[in-house]
Amino acid sequence: MTRYDDFHARSISDPEGFWADEAQLIDWHTPPTQILDASNPPFANWFLGGTTNLCHNAVDRHLAVRAEQPALIFVSTETGVEKTFTFGQLHIEVQRTAASLMALGVGKGDRVLIYMPMIPEAAFAMLACARIGAIHCVVFGGFASGSLASRIEDAEPKVVVSADAGSRGGKIVPYKPLLDEAIRLSNYKPAAVLLTDRGLAPMELVAGRDHLDRDLAAVHGDVVVPCTWLVSTDISYTIYTSGTTGKPKGVQRDTGGYAVALAASMKHIFDGRAGETYFSTSDIGWVVGHSYIVYGPLIAGMATILYEGLPTQGIDRQPDAGIWWRLVEKYRVTVMFSAPTAVRVLKKYDPALLKKYDLSSLRALFLAGEPLDEPTARWISDGLGVPIIDNYWQTESGWPIITIANGVEAKPSKFGSPGVPMYGYKVKILHEATGEELTGPNEKGVVVIEGPTPPGFMQTIWKDDARFVQTYWKSLPGKLVYSTFDWGVRDAEGYFYILGRTDDVINVAGHRLGTREIEESISGHANVAEVAVVGVADALKGQVAMAFVVPKAGDAVTDSDVALKLEGEIMKRVADELGALARPARVRFVTGLPKTRSGKLLRRAIQAVCEGRDPGDLTTIDDPVTLQKIGQLVVP
Ligand code: AMP
Repeated sequence: MTRYDDFHARSISDPEGFWADEAQLIDWHTPPTQILDASNPPFANWFLGGTTNLCHNAVDRHLAVRAEQPALIFVSTETGVEKTFTFGQLHIEVQRTAASLMALGVGKGDRVLIYMPMIPEAAFAMLACARIGAIHCVVFGGFASGSLASRIEDAEPKVVVSADAGSRGGKIVPYKPLLDEAIRLSNYKPAAVLLTDRGLAPMELVAGRDHLDRDLAAVHGDVVVPCTWLVSTDISYTIYTSGTTGKPKGVQRDTGGYAVALAASMKHIFDGRAGETYFSTSDIGWVVGHSYIVYGPLIAGMATILYEGLPTQGIDRQPDAGIWWRLVEKYRVTVMFSAPTAVRVLKKYDPALLKKYDLSSLRALFLAGEPLDEPTARWISDGLGVPIIDNYWQTESGWPIITIANGVEAKPSKFGSPGVPMYGYKVKILHEATGEELTGPNEKGVVVIEGPTPPGFMQTIWKDDARFVQTYWKSLPGKLVYSTFDWGVRDAEGYFYILGRTDDVINVAGHRLGTREIEESISGHANVAEVAVVGVADALKGQVAMAFVVPKAGDAVTDSDVALKLEGEIMKRVADELGALARPARVRFVTGLPKTRSGKLLRRAIQAVCEGRDPGDLTTIDDPVTLQKIGQLVVP
């Protein structure tokens, strides 16, 4: 057995002993008395009896030794702002925001929904919530009113934290009107809105509801707000993710388990050390942003770069596809985290940009969120000359499930494989129909995790234990196992290969979207009778959404002008309701959709023909001609 195999084996055979050791990596106000309670499967409760606080571990505990060291480095190539906050300054800012939230009535257990661009105030708000025991729900700033409204309704936040606007590629994206519209659409109304005014777009304030953060800070700015000690299983946050139904799921996480999981991953997986700089190019709206822009690096005592902007624009707002490498050099970044999509974007530019800067500080580049294809991995690996580490995980897990734990043992990577199961994870491959375990090399099945799930893993779905158990744990016959809803195989050496989703979730540029949500939005158009949305392979984005629509006025749509107009209206509708990310790349009009005899839409068969693959058994299709017609529409 190699060193890592031993490490993993102990985490499985003696989870309590293993995680009791890892728990030493964080500060506890009261140490736990029981490491794991798995008496009510599939629920796993970690570090019972322990009290701690995420903000204390991310900020306060570093003050003694690194108050003057950088903690948050904000770089916006959209506004040209570059600013560093030390741990000492971060401590002050977070207390200021915490005091403002408290002044708006927020206390322990209350929800605070954060709908923010990538600005420091977003991180202050997250940490402030953690500090006072409020539950934050960050909603990705690229989502539009409809998506935001359904999340407001589910989270029932006392306060929404937002800003006047974001900016993307130099284009101002006003947030406030989208938020106002979302609150109008939502049956639940938050009591207050706390706003940062960046001076990018005009804002109309609703009297009695909307407050500018600088006004509240003027009153509460110097208040000392101590950390509220939370029991380990208290909820730290919820984050919404897409599933098979149109209703988003609030993935709920604890406090102590999450803090330990992140601290352990910073040591064993990312090998990031206190005093160094971590650069994740993700967004705080995604789980990577929670774990590896805000909490993970700070818990480890590292500075973290919060980057607003495209990967191809410089701080002077001129085109510069070398900006990230410039930042690596400038801030001596040791660990970097991005997504394959971003690398595929950079690949279109001169590879000399990778050699232009001194990247000697960089130890590894981690890529996640979607399958990492070999050409992309090779290009960036050759260019940077550091290990490229694929890591596979999900919003639900909070930290990598499958990768290479460099901090324990630098096992070799294999192209196309994220690696091996991480400590704490019992990953198996099961036959999708029988639930039988597949142990042979290269046998394809569903990737599942056997309980108890490790610290940091989701506790449940917010307000819906039954849905959590039913959706995730009962999808395979005869067994209570967590389904990742990903297909996978394992090779003879135990390396896993992820082969795409088993459900109707698609992955656009590393972002997870539910095709049902998009379908629901399109169905709302007055001239749409029926719609199917599938994810189709795309060289740059991994997948893009493609919509097949049966229009109500079928005949009229044979006119190409009418079709073009309807396509435009449908695209706009989705962008307005859900966000530009969800907008289908193409809308095609058809007279019927392929279904089974029982009326179930055959999205997978549609996807197959769109990608020029064999759609499989056609005998179950009610009317196979509909599928052939779709095939003719997409073949160039
Ligand atoms: P999300 O919850 O948005 O992080 O999306 C998780 C999904 O993205 C997984 O279930 C996979 O389908 C996909 N995914 C994430 N990381 C990888 C990876 N390294 N390789 C292949 N697929 C991945």
